[in-house]
Amino acid sequence: MRDLAHMGLWFATLPRPIEPRAALERDERVDVAIVGAGYSGLWTAYYLTALEPGIRVAIVEAEFAGFGASGRNGGWCVGSMAGLDALGADPARREGALRLQRALFDAVDEVGRVCTREGIDCHFAKGGWISVASVAAQRDRLRAEIAEWHAQGLGESDARWLEPEECAARVRTPRNQGALFFAHCAALHPARLVRGLAEAVERRGVAIFERTPALAIEPRCVVTRAARLRADRVVRATEGWSGSLRGEARRLVPMHSMMVATEPLSEGTWKEIGLERRETFSDARRIVVYGQRTADGRLAFGSRGRYLFGSAVPERFPETSRDYARVERILASFFPALRGCAIAHRWSGPVAVPRSWRPSVGVDRASGLAWAGGYVGEGVAASNLAGRTLAELILGRESERTSLPLVGPPFPRWEPEPLRWLGVQAVLRVGQWLDASELAGRRASRLGSAVFRRFVRA
Ligand SMILES: Cc1cc2nc3c(=O)[nH]c(=O)nc-3n(C[C@H](O)[C@H](O)[C@H](O)COP(=O)(O)OP(=O)(O)OC[C@H]3O[C@@H](n4cnc5c(N)ncnc54)[C@H](O)[C@@H]3O)c2cc1C
Repeated sequence: MRDLAHMGLWFATLPRPIEPRAALERDERVDVAIVGAGYSGLWTAYYLTALEPGIRVAIVEAEFAGFGASGRNGGWCVGSMAGLDALGADPARREGALRLQRALFDAVDEVGRVCTREGIDCHFAKGGWISVASVAAQRDRLRAEIAEWHAQGLGESDARWLEPEECAARVRTPRNQGALFFAHCAALHPARLVRGLAEAVERRGVAIFERTPALAIEPRCVVTRAARLRADRVVRATEGWSGSLRGEARRLVPMHSMMVATEPLSEGTWKEIGLERRETFSDARRIVVYGQRTADGRLAFGSRGRYLFGSAVPERFPETSRDYARVERILASFFPALRGCAIAHRWSGPVAVPRSWRPSVGVDRASGLAWAGGYVGEGVAASNLAGRTLAELILGRESERTSLPLVGPPFPRWEPEPLRWLGVQAVLRVGQWLDASELAGRRASRLGSAVFRRFVRA
């Protein structure tokens, strides 16, 4: 079994050690084959077996269920999705965007419902999300965002403005100019969710083959080193590692997100910080940061923002990496009470960014290929909706989900290197420069803001 020490808090706090399942060693035939045992693959399997008991589903996983982003994320189960704001801003697509938004809200509750039904104890707590305005520019942006959402059909019970004193009643951070409160978000333990989900699909008869990297996906066939898995439909659910499949190097860009977690904090420290309802928190900077109060009383906190040439996905970044130092600096600036507090875990993982900056699910009936993913960094709830929708598409069942704008064509390919690296670096730099200007109290460049928005379509 590989060493999991560097994989962070969630793997260190699983109730049971990870026992690897058997690998695929001889050719097999099933109705649906899935590559990747993260949330996307597992939710797809879950709903396939719910809709059609007796269907033969097999999953091949390069490492073990939950090895990917699903076992390492920030644990925000949030009713939101990359690219949604851009969809909503287009009058021709506004109605679809609102339906998608509501479906994502429902996905948050659906994750909670399934966990209760299947006995998955993932510490699900729906306390909402607080995005604090650290400076006036962030305040103006957040207020404009709330106004835009309300104009598009959301209500005060979905998202509302908290004045500084209301914000301080929930979370106490020195730079508080008020906050956005978004009701549709739960904090959870991501690895408990993905491991519990894998056990739930196995109970429904799904076969999971671990330590079985797929080399290629061919029409109606998954090719592995030892065997071929044939199926009417083959689902690609490989997210940040999609480049490991033959011919898929430019499908999704892996952007690395870095996380840290403290030891359990004292009651006194929590009194200074707040977050009594386990609200997830961030501020409104462009290079996203995200945090949660864990069920065992720690702060887990992270930030996106590293791309490696050639879409490389390293096993780990050194603990001394400047990216971790940056994350720890930002966390300390949120909560001075943490200064001097030991960081117990540091880990990272790739989020997958499509060129269109929008997730997609779909099925190509001619080749039998299906796909789900491209969530950027918002896949915990979105993958539930994606898997549920994909199961319906595969079985040819129409529902209120199968006409959502989440259903779309395969991801357009990214540019070849070095253009890809140059483009992604440029956008990251612009984002960091805009954030730094705003946090220093200067006005961010309008042109820079427009360029950033255009590229990330957020
Ligand atoms: C550090 C971090 C923090 C995040 N925080 C949040 C958050 O707070 N909220 C949120 O909504 N989202 C967050 N995300 C994103 C979220 O975790 C992902 O969008 C989601 O887990 C994607 O699930 P998935 O199943 O599509 O992909 P993954 O969980 O990455 O699963 C893909 C699986 O495919 C396997 N695989 C890949 N290639 C092959 C192959 N060739 N053969 C066989 N198997 C293969 C991998 O081993 C992996 O297990 C975060 C991500 C990271 C990395």
